[in-house]
Amino acid sequence: MTSSNRSEDLKKRDLDAVWHPCTQMKDHKHLPMVPIKSAKGVWLEDFNGNRYLDAISSWWVNLFGHANETISSAIKEQLDTMEHVLLAGFSHETVINLSEQLIEITPEPLRKCFYADNGSSAVEVALKMSFHYWKNIGKTKKTKFINLSNSYHGETIGALSLGDVALYKEVYEPLLLDVITVPSPDSFNREIGESEADYAKRMFVHMEKALEQHHEEVCAVIVEPLVQCAGYMRMYAPEYLTLLREACDRYGVHLIADEIAVGFGRTGTMFGCEQANISPDFMCLSKGLTGGYLPLSVVLTTNNVYDAFYDDYENLTAFLHSHSYTGNPLGCAAALATLKIFNTEDVIANNQILSAEFVKQCERFQSHPHIGDVRQTGMITAIEIVKDKASKKSYPWQERRGLEVYKFGLKNNALLRPLGDVIYFMPPYVITPEEIKMLVDVAELGIELAVAK
Ligand code: PMP
Repeated sequence: MTSSNRSEDLKKRDLDAVWHPCTQMKDHKHLPMVPIKSAKGVWLEDFNGNRYLDAISSWWVNLFGHANETISSAIKEQLDTMEHVLLAGFSHETVINLSEQLIEITPEPLRKCFYADNGSSAVEVALKMSFHYWKNIGKTKKTKFINLSNSYHGETIGALSLGDVALYKEVYEPLLLDVITVPSPDSFNREIGESEADYAKRMFVHMEKALEQHHEEVCAVIVEPLVQCAGYMRMYAPEYLTLLREACDRYGVHLIADEIAVGFGRTGTMFGCEQANISPDFMCLSKGLTGGYLPLSVVLTTNNVYDAFYDDYENLTAFLHSHSYTGNPLGCAAALATLKIFNTEDVIANNQILSAEFVKQCERFQSHPHIGDVRQTGMITAIEIVKDKASKKSYPWQERRGLEVYKFGLKNNALLRPLGDVIYFMPPYVITPEEIKMLVDVAELGIELAVAK
């Protein structure tokens, strides 16, 4: 079978047997399904020899490129030793090493690591742990959570409840937990001439009010530090997080930092929380944790939280939550290798050069009549297509203009997967300045097509 026939065969078999995530499968009547044959660095290659620059790190997971030698060989070595062992009653050196290192690199009071196997499950762990902590110390009225509008925390019922993107949430509303949603400090909505920090401070009034009114029934506030990724890459100033930490302390409410998407350098610091100089009570990590190799997640918390569960068995205060693959050794080996790269290379400083290149390349959009906003936080850059620049009014969503950019990208060596009409770049850190230029060139031409539609 030729490569091209092989590709056609795979496409057909795929559509016969696979139900894809986050996809209206009927779209594939006109949208190509792309079976990938191999991947190296920032590049994916299909069976026809077409290459695609993975501008979105395969859903924000990949940090140091596909087929990274350091990570691949660490997994192979672990594979020859032990593939998996349960983490209840038993342990292994890889999970111990990883936990010690995660405690070392996260803010000081985070001292214990609880593992799960994907981001949504980590959010479930944090929400259950927070509720259970308050119950264990006798605060049984605390059963609610506060979130920000436009937030996203995953797809399982608890995590979906804590999010606020209607596209994913609305249909399941009858099944979900009741949450208290506070308007986001999203800088997109600030007044002309108003600084992002001033807007964040102004918007904090809503959070202060919600905490004042509801703190006795609230377990925790959950936020995505600095960037609401699935919420169309909207960004906000770190000042909001500083105020939030202080207020959570004052009102006796936990702070959950969902760093699943923004952790491991995406925002320009190792963790988004660092830019506000704060530490949460729970930090959720996944995605980049394994460099994009294997599903693994972790919730870091404080000894104060841990101690509230530590008691004689008969008192039934233990956190009896488990997932079969908790602390999987292969995932932990990938994570340790990922941290090794951070230790041996100056990733954060090198990324500043790449971020500056994105700024330089995206200058061309500033005066574009259909670009309402170009925003950047660290290694995340987003361009928002609008119908009207002055009012930032969007096109009707049914027109799906962002999809035109996606289709154009596929034909021109770029995997751009817009969020609605927001085109964004969140590439692996091994991208070169030349590749950044190429990506932005493709995005620009795609946008021209989309707005001319
Ligand atoms: N939280 C955030 C901030 C995320 O971006 C995501 C995934 N996009 C999740 C949670 C859920 O992670 P997972 O897809 O691994 O369940």
